[in-house]
Amino acid sequence: MRALLPMRECIDLVESALASLARGHGAMPVRSVFMKPDRSGIVGLMPGFLEEPRGFGLKAVTVFPRNAERGLDTHQGAVLLIDADTGRPEAVLEGGEITAIRTAAASAAATRRLAREDAGDLAILGAGVQARMHVDAIGRVRKLRRVRIHGRTPESARALAKETGAEAAPTAEDAVRGADIVCTVTAAKEPILRREWLAPGTHVNAVGACIPSAREIDTATIAAASVFVDSRDAAMVEAGDLLFPMKEGAIDASWIKAEIGAVFAGLAKGRASLDELTLYKSLGVAVEDVAAGTFVLERAKRAGRGVRAPFSGDDEP
Ligand code: NDP
Repeated sequence: MRALLPMRECIDLVESALASLARGHGAMPVRSVFMKPDRSGIVGLMPGFLEEPRGFGLKAVTVFPRNAERGLDTHQGAVLLIDADTGRPEAVLEGGEITAIRTAAASAAATRRLAREDAGDLAILGAGVQARMHVDAIGRVRKLRRVRIHGRTPESARALAKETGAEAAPTAEDAVRGADIVCTVTAAKEPILRREWLAPGTHVNAVGACIPSAREIDTATIAAASVFVDSRDAAMVEAGDLLFPMKEGAIDASWIKAEIGAVFAGLAKGRASLDELTLYKSLGVAVEDVAAGTFVLERAKRAGRGVRAPFSGDDEP
């Protein structure tokens, strides 16, 4: 998957997919989330359709937090691509890697538009799969002078810092003070980012907390920031980072400045001044997955990768 979906190309692909959606050339519902009765994991169902870049299908993403103890990624899943004319299943792709790559690619595309041109000091809160991907992705859209990583488990942050040439920061505040770009990529339920640590002109990618009961960002940061989202509809259902401040009366729905796709499409303005605090609230949307999946399928066919399998109604594999 990594060979077939290079980060650099995925950044452009995700940007075009979200721009195309903003122009009305795609559609998707808010994902439906099913919690296993024993509450050990969830399955999210994410269908989506996009005309150009082409994509039609469904991602089933699973989040099993205890996988970390098993040495497995917490996020797994599969993307089912569907022929848009006949409805026949076309391909099944491993979904964990697509999720990992396209999420960081979306943050990078948002950073390219929203961060200051001279932003070169990156802070990452979290030290898992997304943290690793974000160091790579953000480094492709800004010339990074310094990268600091803080993780709940210091050993994980140290290991990732060593692997990526970054510094491990002992506290979240140590990571964030003086940073131009901050990415929150944790499974935290309570805020891990504080307004008072952020310098004017910072750009924040808020990527964890994809359920209404969890948040990574404090209310003061949201109330001070120009907020962009990947999907307004999803944000109003899933984004605890915005829903908690709304419940507290600090902001209302009109606080969301624009969908990031509208900025990509030139339909909405991005950063308005050098001092502005910008924040991209990422939830992850299906058109990113079906566009990335279709890109991978076409590459795989050309490269002779993957396995052809017989399917109901096929005469031959
Ligand atoms: P991983 O399981 O690989 O990493 C999770 C990280 O969060 C680890 O560093 C973990 O630390 C840390 N963490 C867990 N609980 C807490 C806590 N209470 N406080 C602080 N840190 C904590 O997950 P991913 O990197 O794949 O995903 C990170 C987050 O991003 C998740 O919330 C996930 O749901 C979300 N996500 C969002 C997507 C989007 O499109 N917006 C797509 C994919 C994921 P430790 O090592 O100590 O456990």
